[in-house]
Amino acid sequence: MKRSQYAVIGLGRFGSSLAKELIQLGYEVMGIDMDEEAVEEMSEELTHVVVADSTDEDVIRSLGIRNFDCVIVAIGDDIQASILTTILLKDIGVKMVVAKALSELHGKVLHKIGVDRVIFPERDMGIRVAHQLVSPNLLDYIELSKEYTIAELAVPKCLDGLSLKELDTRARYGCSVVAINKKHGDVIIAPTATDTVDEKDVMVIIGTNEQIEHFENALV
Ligand code: ADP
Repeated sequence: MKRSQYAVIGLGRFGSSLAKELIQLGYEVMGIDMDEEAVEEMSEELTHVVVADSTDEDVIRSLGIRNFDCVIVAIGDDIQASILTTILLKDIGVKMVVAKALSELHGKVLHKIGVDRVIFPERDMGIRVAHQLVSPNLLDYIELSKEYTIAELAVPKCLDGLSLKELDTRARYGCSVVAINKKHGDVIIAPTATDTVDEKDVMVIIGTNEQIEHFENALV
């Protein structure tokens, strides 16, 4: 199967980090920025780099951006450039456009002009870090919906050696342990009542936000 090809427009802090990670994951990435220095810095790292103003329709057409599977607009501060670029990409028929928004209003405009996915890196990172600060055992989480979350929790000393039967998270807190990532590298998927958790293992739990918060609070 052909691997997806990505183009990242705007090689600032966010765009360059995203582009480098896509390369690490084994994908081809074209990086575009109108700032020569930003492009020069990434020239060794990406498959292809171009100095160009993404609001210039002729330039964008000449780069064949239409053929990329996904184009990420990582222009932040210049909201006008972000919006013009996005409209242009949608106009020329790019299948998947992902754009970074700096504010809720910026995000709303991007949605209205047909962006397939809007991301708010600063806002989302702020929320994530706040959760991790108030709950030191929380390593990561994914919101499945407004109500349900999957969370990765570091097993604290107070739970060392307990079996899932002893933990009894389902009866006590309403949430379930769906996997245990053992500190030595094994992963127990769908653990049973006799499986145990040890300090420094990571347990993956699923439940409502409230149930998970209740459980996290009991660990502090
Ligand atoms: P970050 O906060 O991720 O560093 P910035 O907004 O500071 O984001 O950086 C965005 C990048 O996008 C900059 O390198 C800038 O040169 C580039 N950029 C801004 N407008 C355009 C444009 N019209 N065409 C191409 N690149 C652009």
